[in-house]
Amino acid sequence: MLSAEHELSQKIVAMDAWYCKVPVNARRDHGIGSVQGTIDVVVVRLTSESGLHGFGEASPWPVFCGTAEGCMAAFSRYFVPHVIGAAVKDAQNIMRTCEKAVVHSSDAKAALESALLDLTGKIVSLPVHALIGGKVRDRIPLSVSIANPEFDDDKALAQRIHDDGVRVVKVKTGFKDHAFDVARIEWLKKQYPDFIIRVDYNQGLDPYDALRKLKDIDALDVSFIEQPVAARHWQSMRELRQSIDTPLLADESVFTPSDMVRAVKEDICDAVSIKIMKCGGLNRGKEIAAIAEAAGLAAYGGDMFETGLAHLAGLHMVASTPNISLGCEFYQATYYLDEDLLSAPFPLDNGEVIVPDTPGLGIEVDQEKVASFSHISTVSQY
Ligand SMILES: [Mg+2]
Repeated sequence: MLSAEHELSQKIVAMDAWYCKVPVNARRDHGIGSVQGTIDVVVVRLTSESGLHGFGEASPWPVFCGTAEGCMAAFSRYFVPHVIGAAVKDAQNIMRTCEKAVVHSSDAKAALESALLDLTGKIVSLPVHALIGGKVRDRIPLSVSIANPEFDDDKALAQRIHDDGVRVVKVKTGFKDHAFDVARIEWLKKQYPDFIIRVDYNQGLDPYDALRKLKDIDALDVSFIEQPVAARHWQSMRELRQSIDTPLLADESVFTPSDMVRAVKEDICDAVSIKIMKCGGLNRGKEIAAIAEAAGLAAYGGDMFETGLAHLAGLHMVASTPNISLGCEFYQATYYLDEDLLSAPFPLDNGEVIVPDTPGLGIEVDQEKVASFSHISTVSQY
């Protein structure tokens, strides 16, 4: 039998990418934009000399981070020279080089790192969380978002998730009117007193008159309020934070570790949503968590519009990062997609995500489903 060192010396001989349009079951509105019909994701697959595969997913949302077209270009043009022919054991060097090869493209970089970690884990027979520090939790509380402009449809979703044991919900606000936001929160509190309710504006408020609205939400005793104003309104974030008792969470204001440093310096938040698609991967996400922890701030496992493949990568980060203590929102594979891309159900039990201990990301990708949802693909071989 070959040593792990020898096995990790093998080269990456192929990188394939598929641009998939994955059908979803409802319209969802947010402060910065809406989603309906399908979500765009890009699945990347690395192949080692021994024929093992590592998978990753880029989940761009054009109004939030990048585009699927940009991800395809990142893989097929800018990453290829640094990935094909490189040894699997050089994963960190590959990432550092690819980070410099093209600016932004954090979603494509997250997918590449996920695929490298998945491949490494499969070669050494360890779960991804064991490669990035080891898990500190086996189960992660799941939050499901309430974002349908037809609230009656979300009432059915609320009943379904409550029946399933979910006890954390995030109400998306700021896309219609304030009365609609308050009414939905009040209804959920009355109907399900055991729900922990969070509120996410996705930048939906103008700084002018934001405080009066937030004071109404503050009085409803919710768990936290997320990103009420545009990412660039740092001063408004700080002033709002100082004016309400409810913890204020930054999402769109903090993409990178450098953003987190600035958020701490400028006192804009009590907690941060960490998403691998914003920062470019699990290791960058852990850097953000470390900065937040050092400043006494909490962190939350956020996501974009993802399939279970990207959820898996995020959950290994959350599982192995002590300071990401506010749960996660990896609900879409179960409650939002018509069909997921994984070959087994995303692991949920009684309202919590179960951390897999099987090698790599932990669940195989259904490659036939990827092909069926794909309308563009690229292949690069050694
Ligand atoms: Mg958010």
